[in-house]
Amino acid sequence: MSFDLASIVRPNILALKPYSTARDEFSGSDAPRIMLDANENPYDTGYNRYPDPHQRDLKARIAILKGVLPDQVFLGNGSDEGIDLLVRALCRPGQDSIVIQPPTYGMYEVAAGIQDVAVQRVPLTADFQTDTQAVLAAIQPNTKLIFFCSPNNPTGNRLDREPIVQIASRFPGIVVVDEAYGDFDPAGSFLPGLDQIPNLVVMQTFSKAWGMAGVRLGMLFASKEIIQILSKIKAPYNLSSLAQQAALNGLDYSHVVKGLIDLTRQERARLSQELVTIPAVRKVWPSDANFLLIEVAGGRKAYDYLLANGIVTRDRSSVVKDSIRITVGTADENTRVLEVLRQYQP
Ligand SMILES: *Cc1c(COP(=O)(O)O)cnc(C)c1O
Repeated sequence: MSFDLASIVRPNILALKPYSTARDEFSGSDAPRIMLDANENPYDTGYNRYPDPHQRDLKARIAILKGVLPDQVFLGNGSDEGIDLLVRALCRPGQDSIVIQPPTYGMYEVAAGIQDVAVQRVPLTADFQTDTQAVLAAIQPNTKLIFFCSPNNPTGNRLDREPIVQIASRFPGIVVVDEAYGDFDPAGSFLPGLDQIPNLVVMQTFSKAWGMAGVRLGMLFASKEIIQILSKIKAPYNLSSLAQQAALNGLDYSHVVKGLIDLTRQERARLSQELVTIPAVRKVWPSDANFLLIEVAGGRKAYDYLLANGIVTRDRSSVVKDSIRITVGTADENTRVLEVLRQYQP
């Protein structure tokens, strides 16, 4: 099936003329010039100038790191901005729909709800993989987006590649692969497939492995045509100078981040091996991310017990029976989790 972006973008968005910032109308360096175009405060506070609305320096660095072109990169105030803009760019309120595969990340549904867009739920299989036939069967003429989360939150596993490739080739809308935890599983990334699959969007973030959740910086990779649509509807200065600078600084520490990813993976293995020896723990799901989903006798009761002992986990029993999601912490934190859980009486 050939992919025609113009036929799936909302007509008003296609026709929209974006706001032109002062920095668009004059984009040269401000170094030796007198800048009186943006009604900024002229006295230097360190932050008195508007940030680069196109985040050129940061995109250039990220593009090199990820092996894509700078015009295949969109940067948002967290991945959540990317999710929201995709829904708003493509889905007409009250008419269009998205497909999600529960149990999965909650923001896809919230973004759709804000826009009055219907959500079709196609549950993952018993081992939390894509139900290819069911997803294909769910596609309606007005389905615009299919969300895949890999490694999936809250289950932790990587999704198989083949179903996603197959669905993308048969779907006229956009397939989104949310790789928020992709740094813990680089071999599973869809980024190398970006040029082969025209209707693919890959999302990553600085919030997890990079240790910069407080910066609020999400990355979205796609064809330059898709990136152009999202760039045109974003808030002009969506990333503050502080966020852009913090990310540029953080990129200098990618070797440290790599070491922390290895450490987290080791700790995940230890936590997982120890958890299965605890009788109350009925199941430890395999994880390609920085957390473990476990089924534990009593479910919510185990969550409350951990909480009473000063350990905050995520109760997921409403989406996976008797399950809690535990983030892999430091070695000491993980040891404490194991100690406390060993004392738990369901
Ligand atoms: C944590 C997470 C994100 C990250 O969102 P940010 O807005 O970038 O912090 C995105 N998707 C999933 C599935 C997540 O778990």
